[in-house]
Amino acid sequence: MKAAVIESFNRLMVVKDISDPELKDDFGAIVRVEANGICRTDWHEWIGDWEWIGLTPELPMVPGHEFCGVVEETGKGVLRYKRGDRVIVPFHMGCNHCNSCQAGQHNICDNFSMAGFHFNGGYGRYVLIPQADINMVKLPDSIPFDAGAALGCRFMTAYHAVVRQGRVRPGQQVAVYGCGGIGLTAVHVAASLGARVIAVDIMDEHLRLAADLGAHDSVNVKTHNPVEAIKELTQGGADVTVDGLGIGETCRNSVMSLRKGGTHVQVGLTTGEERGEVSLPIDMMVAMEITFRGSIGMPRSEYPQLLNHITENRNIDPSRLVTRKINIEEAPQVLRSMTDYQTMGINIINRW
Ligand SMILES: [Zn+2]
Ligand SMILES: [Zn+2]
Repeated sequence: MKAAVIESFNRLMVVKDISDPELKDDFGAIVRVEANGICRTDWHEWIGDWEWIGLTPELPMVPGHEFCGVVEETGKGVLRYKRGDRVIVPFHMGCNHCNSCQAGQHNICDNFSMAGFHFNGGYGRYVLIPQADINMVKLPDSIPFDAGAALGCRFMTAYHAVVRQGRVRPGQQVAVYGCGGIGLTAVHVAASLGARVIAVDIMDEHLRLAADLGAHDSVNVKTHNPVEAIKELTQGGADVTVDGLGIGETCRNSVMSLRKGGTHVQVGLTTGEERGEVSLPIDMMVAMEITFRGSIGMPRSEYPQLLNHITENRNIDPSRLVTRKINIEEAPQVLRSMTDYQTMGINIINRW
């Protein structure tokens, strides 16, 4: 099969033919990838970030953890899926045995693994999914593959962050820092719930896209102090903030943009600059009773609610986040262009 391969960190990926994956046990499945999103996580991986959280792959590796497709083959022990089923593959693979998995929280599995990091992922046409019964979700026929890819990573991550961790309600004021794929989706989801959303970014074109997706106001950090601007726009501070980027500045500014009793949801992981450590105004957080929540992926149990929301709410449509569809041959350049934040919205590979 044709795949884009990371052969060394920070060097352009190589597109080549490699052997197809094979079933290793009775509980796996082979999925034919129909669409794979190019996520900023892939860029972090390609740069060689995140060894401080144990997320550096052994090379060579085919990246890609944000994909959907069609079940090609299943092991004898797979009961929920059969050849031909359309499926979303959530990026966090549960082991099905630990306490978190037993509680249905595969997103915080003790033996967490990820396609594209621990085994070859969706930049190749076929992917082996371990423990397929718990690591796939049926993709409704009404959602096209191109829109379905992000339901395995950025879209569901933003949904869980806004709906479950942020508990955003209609009429609340929500500020979203960083309008990449996650941030834009958080804007779109929060707006679809009836919140008043402020988008924060450094690029006007990202902010324009955020406005198209439902943001009521925007703040360009290049020209405005975002904390002051948000306090003014919200008359005192946001009820909920989401940091979709994960650099020290966006994390701190998000917390400082809250009103008393507000909740910050941290979604973005840090870069080589912070290496996982960000200083925060703790005394202020105590005095203002600020809640700080981490958010990773989304448990399987929340998929029915997400899929219902998409199929029944006309204000939300994952295909509106997809700005570009490319051939696998273009993937190395697109990934490299993320170094300068040159991509917008969600770029997907849908041709091999
Ligand atoms: Zn991702
Ligand atoms: Zn587990």
